[in-house]
Amino acid sequence: MPLKIIICGAGIGGLSAAGFLRAKHDVTVLERGELDFTVNDYGLSVVSNSFNLLERAGIKTENLDTVVMTHVWQRGPNNEELKTMHFDTRARFGGAPSVLVKRALLQKELLRFATGPEFSGAPANIIQNAKVTRVDPAAGKVWTEDGRDFEGDLIIGADGIHSVVRSAVLGEDITASIRTYNTLTFMAQLSVEDLKSDPGFAYLADPTTQAGLCSAHANSGPRVNKRILTYHTSPRGLQVVGYTSENEFSEIFDSAKTAIIRDVPVSRVVEDFAPEFAEGFVNLFRHSQVDAWRIRDVAPLSTWFSGKALLIGDAAHAVTPHAGQGCNVTIEDAEALGYLLKDVESPDAIPEVLQRFMALRKDRVAFVTRRSHELGNIQTEEEKTKELITPEQFARTIYTYQGAEKALSGQQMPPAVRPT
Ligand SMILES: Cc1cc2nc3c(=O)[nH]c(=O)nc-3n(C[C@H](O)[C@H](O)[C@H](O)COP(=O)(O)OP(=O)(O)OC[C@H]3O[C@@H](n4cnc5c(N)ncnc54)[C@H](O)[C@@H]3O)c2cc1C
Repeated sequence: MPLKIIICGAGIGGLSAAGFLRAKHDVTVLERGELDFTVNDYGLSVVSNSFNLLERAGIKTENLDTVVMTHVWQRGPNNEELKTMHFDTRARFGGAPSVLVKRALLQKELLRFATGPEFSGAPANIIQNAKVTRVDPAAGKVWTEDGRDFEGDLIIGADGIHSVVRSAVLGEDITASIRTYNTLTFMAQLSVEDLKSDPGFAYLADPTTQAGLCSAHANSGPRVNKRILTYHTSPRGLQVVGYTSENEFSEIFDSAKTAIIRDVPVSRVVEDFAPEFAEGFVNLFRHSQVDAWRIRDVAPLSTWFSGKALLIGDAAHAVTPHAGQGCNVTIEDAEALGYLLKDVESPDAIPEVLQRFMALRKDRVAFVTRRSHELGNIQTEEEKTKELITPEQFARTIYTYQGAEKALSGQQMPPAVRPT
């Protein structure tokens, strides 16, 4: 008998989980808003560790308007070349590419995975405008704001960092588990055309031949918080992100209960970065509206499940963006759950599956969290006592992932790592 599974949230994790689970089970997804794929939202790096799982499941690169990551450029604050590294995971690990994509397009393709007739199993039932307001993990029941209720053998909380399911699983106010850092990012979009007036950015100007991420630190060395990242998001576009210390925005973030402040004056961004970065870098912020994002994550939780409810993705373990792995570990979660539940026919087996799921995923996610903190220079006191994770160690451990079956059997893909 298929299990009846209710997923809260139709973001990256919810739709991926629906895709991986529908082959065997009866899946309903509750989304608080309306899915709108026309928004010009932010770019995501979908790295080989999760992209190979999606490719194998039938996700089509051609539906993503994406570019394949081939390079990481380290530049000085005057855009001088420091180091150019090959980052083509196809060559480095003999496996899947890592791609850069707009979030909305990835979400649209994941909706096809969850509901399209070409995938095995019955399409998941996606219910929009269904904001989950209460969850009873013991009963397997969920209530939405408009008074509807849903019952399942399993409730999956894929409802992001402010997860309502997390508060039910933990039995406490979720704000206690959200960590906020003294760092924020300014983010803007630009097109490759915008770069053409500055020959110093020729290396970024043709993403069809080479695409990736350019990282420039302020002069005071790599361990300071101020840096500018620029990366492609499509064959035509890029995103620029400036990391800086959080000074005056905390109050606005707190009082508006938001993690994003739209349309920050460009002059404010210029004022922040112009003292350390050349005009070319600062000008990258002049091509579109600039938004400010607060950097947060979820502190390690004592558990990700209770009764019939399980947390995945940001709801369980949101990470800071520094290692570019938030959506990747979320997709890994979804695949692992699909694998662990593929032969389950009775709700009686669910408690053991939830334990196995957390045991399989917890250390891996903690490793990503630690590396993200190291890159952002925001380590906890405990993390500071540990040796730094090297880029090679991170790549071998994370980018070579081949899914839950191999992880459980201890078979990681042999890391044919080429020196860069
Ligand atoms: C600016 C930015 C840049 C990022 N860049 C990267 C990157 O380059 N690489 C990377 O790997 N990760 C990146 N991330 C992180 C990545 O986006 C997240 O880790 C990933 O989206 C997590 O997926 P999720 O499904 O857990 O949450 P989400 O994708 O946030 O989805 C949560 C869904 O739940 C819905 N929801 C919330 N509450 C309720 C409710 N009460 N009832 C019903 N539905 C609800 C929401 O509307 C949403 O659709 C970035 C994030 C941000 C903000």
